[in-house]
Amino acid sequence: MKSNEDIFRAFANHPAPLLPILHTFHDRDGWLSQDSIRAVAENLQIPLAELYGTVTFYHHFSQQSSGKQVPRVCTGPICRLNGADEILQDMSAQGASEMPCAGRCDDPVPVIVGGEVLVGLSVSGLEARPSMLPSPPQKGITECVFASIREANQASLAGYRASQGYRALETALLEMTPQKVLEAINRSGLAGRGGAGFPTGRKWQAVRDAAGHPKFIVCNADEGEPGCFKDRVIMDYDPHAMIEGMALAGYVCGAEEGFIYLRYEYPGTFNILDNALTEARAAGWLGRQIQDSEFTFDIHLVRGAGAYVCGEEGSLLNSMEGKHPFPRNRPPYPVTNGFNDKPTAVNNVETLACVPPIIRNSAEWYQGLGLGDESGTKLISLSGDVAKPGNYEVPLGLPLKTLLYEWAGGPLPGQTFQAVTMAGLSGGFLGEEALEEASLCEKSIRSYGSFLGAGGIMVFDARRDMVEVARQAMSFFAEESCGKCFPCRIGTERLTERLGGSGPSEPAAWKAEIQDLGKAMAATSACGLGVAAPLVTESLLRFFPEQVAAFLKGR
Ligand code: SF4
Repeated sequence: MKSNEDIFRAFANHPAPLLPILHTFHDRDGWLSQDSIRAVAENLQIPLAELYGTVTFYHHFSQQSSGKQVPRVCTGPICRLNGADEILQDMSAQGASEMPCAGRCDDPVPVIVGGEVLVGLSVSGLEARPSMLPSPPQKGITECVFASIREANQASLAGYRASQGYRALETALLEMTPQKVLEAINRSGLAGRGGAGFPTGRKWQAVRDAAGHPKFIVCNADEGEPGCFKDRVIMDYDPHAMIEGMALAGYVCGAEEGFIYLRYEYPGTFNILDNALTEARAAGWLGRQIQDSEFTFDIHLVRGAGAYVCGEEGSLLNSMEGKHPFPRNRPPYPVTNGFNDKPTAVNNVETLACVPPIIRNSAEWYQGLGLGDESGTKLISLSGDVAKPGNYEVPLGLPLKTLLYEWAGGPLPGQTFQAVTMAGLSGGFLGEEALEEASLCEKSIRSYGSFLGAGGIMVFDARRDMVEVARQAMSFFAEESCGKCFPCRIGTERLTERLGGSGPSEPAAWKAEIQDLGKAMAATSACGLGVAAPLVTESLLRFFPEQVAAFLKGR
């Protein structure tokens, strides 16, 4: 067993040591004891009270002896439809507790026990099994990110090389200046695929132009949005695509160091990424003077500990720096003041995985994959009451109903679609009209008061009580609000209570209060959580007035 000193020595030169050290203690002992927390505080010179506040903020660090062995059951929206509450009840004798969406909505219900993910629809059916590959593409559809993901051994370096892997980096190093790579990314129209949609080329240009060294590339792999599991499949089956994308980002931005911040709930993915990084280093695709060029770049793998807000880039950077993971006030932005206050490009997994095919096939090729005025493709995680849940790569601009009915097989037998969520939960709901007419692109989805975001779509058929679905969604936001600003902290709680039946007895007054709370939250919250959460109630009132009226009458 490693001593405390061994652990501290192992991470003495790590640029972001707090989380790796805490994880090593947690793995060694099965929990974080007060003595361990005290030792870490002393070693890293973090005030004990501050560290205690940080440790207890994360869901997965147990402060109970053997707490790591206690089952954690996903009670995300789709798992709830699939019997999560019964599994939680059946495992209550083992002390099972709830965990927010664990990103297996296409293969529910995940339960984390002792650091391993099991999935199944009942306790007796729980087993460890690999995540699901995306279905083959529709006839006539050209994919970008998923083009090679179904090839055998694609996760290995040999498999990746067999499908032109690292060819883009090789071409860039031999034939293209960083400026030329940047121009290609700009021309392609690639924009952030993690939700914000900021043009990738502009972000890289800003980091490249920013004063200050060193510069960093951070891959945001903290896929915590309920209903989103598309980054997981890239990392599980095509991890080198993301690694190559990070190296190309480093080449453009002038960075020599990168980080992958991976969510805790993907332990199998951690091992896959760790292997892929080791293979890439051994073959000279990472490290000093890559392929004998002047370019040096390496990547650290950092594991989160369970906090939805860490998907927000300021929180993520604070978490990596060992600070309390509150979102940061902006400006300044990470492009000038990111990790350790240095210029930093924070990009999502899918965004980075788009980069190698763009460089290999041309910017114009990528641009042409979209429909109409749209550039490129988007990964959609589809789950819930639909015949074929899973990950799909769609041309941007594809009609929503084409995805739902033609690609994903339509509703379950004998059922009809009632609602879908957008952006996981953050975009609220779309109802009947949008199901018929909306297209999968920001312009169209925003015209319904929502946004496409990270591309999670959860489907609810006509059996579902949408007020209860909304209550559970708001309860999730209330649980995950970091508490930094009170409109979000209190607003999400009040909205959860109202959706549970409290509030003014007069329906018009009840609705007015809901809308008032939502407006205050959207106008004054400091990060996306507090701004997006009211979309749940807003869209409920807009698309499901009859269900709201029946709910209010029945209180
Ligand atoms: Fe935290 Fe909510 Fe404020 Fe975001 S909006 S900083 S999650 S309290």
